[in-house]
Amino acid sequence: MKLHEYQSKQLFAKYGIPIPKGEVVTQPEDARRIARDLGRRVVVKAQVLVGGRGKAGGVKLANTPDEAEKVAGQILGMDIKGLTVHKVLVDEAADIRQEIYLGIVLDRVQRRAVMMASASGGMDIEEIARTQPEKITRVAIDPFLGLREYQVRQIAYSIGLPREQLKDFNVIAQGLYRCFADVDASLAEVNPLIVNGEDKLQAVDGKILIDDNALFRHPDLAALRDVDEEAPSETEARQRGLSYIKLDGEIGCMVNGAGLAMATMDMTQLFGGSPANFLDIGGGAQADKVAAALRIILADPHVKAVLFNIFGGITRCDEVARGIVAALEEVKPNVPMVARLVGTNEEEGREILAAAHMATAKTLAEAAQKAVALVKGEAAVVKLLPVEVKPLKAKRKVAAKKPAVKKAVAKKARPTVKKATARASTKKARK
Ligand code: GDP
Ligand code: MN
Repeated sequence: MKLHEYQSKQLFAKYGIPIPKGEVVTQPEDARRIARDLGRRVVVKAQVLVGGRGKAGGVKLANTPDEAEKVAGQILGMDIKGLTVHKVLVDEAADIRQEIYLGIVLDRVQRRAVMMASASGGMDIEEIARTQPEKITRVAIDPFLGLREYQVRQIAYSIGLPREQLKDFNVIAQGLYRCFADVDASLAEVNPLIVNGEDKLQAVDGKILIDDNALFRHPDLAALRDVDEEAPSETEARQRGLSYIKLDGEIGCMVNGAGLAMATMDMTQLFGGSPANFLDIGGGAQADKVAAALRIILADPHVKAVLFNIFGGITRCDEVARGIVAALEEVKPNVPMVARLVGTNEEEGREILAAAHMATAKTLAEAAQKAVALVKGEAAVVKLLPVEVKPLKAKRKVAAKKPAVKKAVAKKARPTVKKATARASTKKARK
């Protein structure tokens, strides 16, 4: 779950990180009132859950209450990367000497939280991360020891922070880490952390991502979720218990199981298509859940074909097929679809789909190729390409050396098995 800038900064403030004074409003005339109360130059900032608001024109300075009302009027209702601005933050404007980047992310490879900092913070940090990664300092935090002061010093020196600011910087870095850990965040960042005209550090922008799987531990934070700002499909997916992530491709994928969903996306790509989403309907999905999933997929205007890949285990293929048919009646899609159902009740499932004139496939490779062909408008005849996947070649090689392999297996496997059995019986005997 993403927190808004104003929510993130309010949390940061609780951890001792200095933030500008300000308030969130939904009406331009309230922006005027806040600007008047602050009694100085303000900055009016769109509160939408995407980055790059500054470049999109969602951050504007205002010298007077009149101007604050005017720019708030311009920003409210603005469309930023597909999201409508419903709220603006009116903050006292900062006198910016330098923009620093300071953030913490969860690094899955290191299995640690990693603090990152750069002297070149601000709006171009993504570009810098791409082109000049050496300008970003990274420090891994030991979960048992926490962020050590020497690590903070190391970061401060690497970004050229003057000695006089080290104490304040330490408070901010420690606060950010405690906040990150306390709220079960996967990201907490301050960009920019500024040095102002009085040589003081201040967090001018903030962002927090909270791990959804930990939200049950934070009902107060879960209540901050801004459904207005979520894509409606993401809201519905969450409410239905579906794992849905929108992507940029054209083939909508409905799959049961995360691993299977990944494999389905890979297969789609292998045959020259691009997945429009990741969608895991989970185990034991019933017809209504399947219908919801299909609605979500079809709500994306980029979807040109839908690929169902269902492995019937706990999930019954006939149940899924009924869900698909029910959904077809409800949403009346105008894109072609292909389904591959295998496992529990697959025959019944296929019969139901055939009766509804739905294209089916026996293998995932076939289904993926059909889906790609459908997107390309080759709906009439789908000529299956020979599948050439690397692991298959490897298998062929193994097959050629059959006798050698057999011997190796025979030599190795037997004694090990025997030993293991022997060990097991000794254990039993000891008991
Ligand atoms: P983002 O573009 O969504 O990351 O929004 P930010 O809140 O980071 O604002 C973008 C940029 O606007 C910052 O990098 C600053 O350069 C500038 N900015 C933001 N707030 C202020 C302010 O109070 N005073 C001044 N002078 N510039 C600001
Ligand atoms: Mn920013």
